[in-house]
Amino acid sequence: MTDQKTALVTGANKGIGFEIAAGLGALGYKVGVGARDDARREAAVEKLRAGGADVFGVPLDVTDDASVAAAAHLMQEQAGGLDALVNNAGITGGPEQAPTTVDPETVLAVVQTNVIGVMRVTNAMLPMLRRSASPRIVNVSSSVGSLTRQTTPGSFVGPIAVAYAPSKTFLNAVMVQYARELADTNILINAACPGFVATDLNGFRGTGTAQQGAATPIRLATLPDGGPTGQFFEDAGTIPW
Ligand code: NAP
Repeated sequence: MTDQKTALVTGANKGIGFEIAAGLGALGYKVGVGARDDARREAAVEKLRAGGADVFGVPLDVTDDASVAAAAHLMQEQAGGLDALVNNAGITGGPEQAPTTVDPETVLAVVQTNVIGVMRVTNAMLPMLRRSASPRIVNVSSSVGSLTRQTTPGSFVGPIAVAYAPSKTFLNAVMVQYARELADTNILINAACPGFVATDLNGFRGTGTAQQGAATPIRLATLPDGGPTGQFFEDAGTIPW
């Protein structure tokens, strides 16, 4: 075992996840690049290595039990454990999300990835995190999951989206339950909003860059011991629930 810290980033083949992997790599972490598509994952690994990062590919579909179990096994084998888990993978469910007309299957699919997927990955990685000296879990959420902002006139809350926005509210609520259960451990678990950044997720309409979006997740993945837990952050500070 070396002193090198290790991280796993889900959905790291592109967008914000790719930049989180690059940023943690630049900080000296050995990073598992979690991604479900072999070609996209290997392309990302090559690009990150070319940038000097110590990374390896981790086949990972967050909706699949066997895939997640295999990913945990690979992390142990390739990196000797896990210090920082960044649950970044997420989907929007597409544009047709008016509550009165949405296909319920769309809502279920989004919750499966954005909420249950995060729980599946977190629980599979927890035995390794519990063995770390300074374990961190970051859930990449969104300010559109803030019910306070959704009900405050003038707040930026994106389009009406009954699958995506409530999936992030649900994710935050789940995170709070984890923080309560893990309160007596050294695990710090927090939610991060990356801001509105240009990625495939929003047809590149975001106003910031994916690299800017990676800043808060990276900060939370590298919090010092005794840092906050069970909280919801954006670049400017905490976000109201
Ligand atoms: P993106 O470019 O579309 O990337 C999403 C990533 O998630 C991709 O790598 C995708 O893999 C992966 N993914 C989706 N379903 C998966 C599954 N079942 N298993 C494994 N990986 C899966 O979007 P992004 O903007 O970077 O989004 C990253 C996170 O930031 C998401 O959680 C999103 O909700 C959040 N966020 C984004 C914004 C924004 O403005 N962009 C704002 C707030 C929050 P494939 O390439 O295989 O599809």
